[in-house]
Amino acid sequence: MPKILVTGGAGYIGSHTCHVLAENGYDVVVVDNLSRGYQHNVPRERLRVLSLSETSELARIMVEERVDAVVHFAAYIAVGESAAEPELYFSNNVGGSLSLFAAMHEAGVRKLVFSSTAAVYGTPESVPIPESAPYAPVSVYGESKVMVEKILAWLDELRGLRSVCLRYFNACGAAWQAGLGEEHEPETHLIPLLIRAIETGKPITLFGNDYPTPDGTCIRDYIHVMDLARAHVTALEYLLAGGTSDRFNCGTGKGHSVLEVLRAVEEISGRKVPYVWGARRAGDPAELVANSSRLQRKLGWAPQNAELTGIVTSAWKYTTRRSD
Ligand code: UDP
Repeated sequence: MPKILVTGGAGYIGSHTCHVLAENGYDVVVVDNLSRGYQHNVPRERLRVLSLSETSELARIMVEERVDAVVHFAAYIAVGESAAEPELYFSNNVGGSLSLFAAMHEAGVRKLVFSSTAAVYGTPESVPIPESAPYAPVSVYGESKVMVEKILAWLDELRGLRSVCLRYFNACGAAWQAGLGEEHEPETHLIPLLIRAIETGKPITLFGNDYPTPDGTCIRDYIHVMDLARAHVTALEYLLAGGTSDRFNCGTGKGHSVLEVLRAVEEISGRKVPYVWGARRAGDPAELVANSSRLQRKLGWAPQNAELTGIVTSAWKYTTRRSD
């Protein structure tokens, strides 16, 4: 089986993808500096604790391990933090990627699946958003991902590096049976924060109830992290079979409002979520929903866990470690 190097494999989506890769018989080596990821997400023998800035060491690992392809997650992901520390985000997300691509060139590895984001579109003109929508990021985080996508387009032409960029919508849920789930510090995402509010009794602030949506709260496309993980494996198989570079949206095509998600958490937990209303969060568009039909049509991928209740149940089980 092909050997796959996964950067950021100790993080949330990376660890779930490693799990699915291993389930499908792939040999996996993880490179992670554990600055945001967790050692317990990766079997010790698979992990190389290393920063992406270490180009020669990365190239050495690729040659020594006979790596066939790379899945690249390692990046900072907090939109708010990216506004406070833009240099850090450009340096880590763009600089780290450049170092990785240089190492791949040195080692002769020419296939890559890249973890991109719906944030490349900013505030879209219409939803559902197709891949042909223009780049219009409204955050440093989104811009850093656009920059890497553009670099990859050049490297395709100049270096023969074939890549698939997967633009995720709202990743959530957990493979709780495998001990994997969402763990960010600080946590900024809706579902873990709703669960945390129940657990701590401290109210979550809901950002705005005056959006032009049916209940006034923002609508997002929540996609199960295991469906995302499977999309990476599908993209990898496509590249390993000789596929050309491409980019795909990765969502369910269904939108849910903040209040709908809150009600789902209440229903599954059987508890009330304490919350207060706050102002709109800067840069939050009213509605973000994916048109993922290209990914379905071209690569045959379809979400298997698109129901919000199933997604929330898995997140709840991971957090509360309940097994029933
Ligand atoms: N949200 C909220 N309170 C929070 C965190 C998020 O009301 O403490 C809302 C946010 O405004 C957005 C939705 O929940 O409409 C999803 O936000 P999240 O940060 O999970 O993902 P994003 O859409 O920013 O990628």
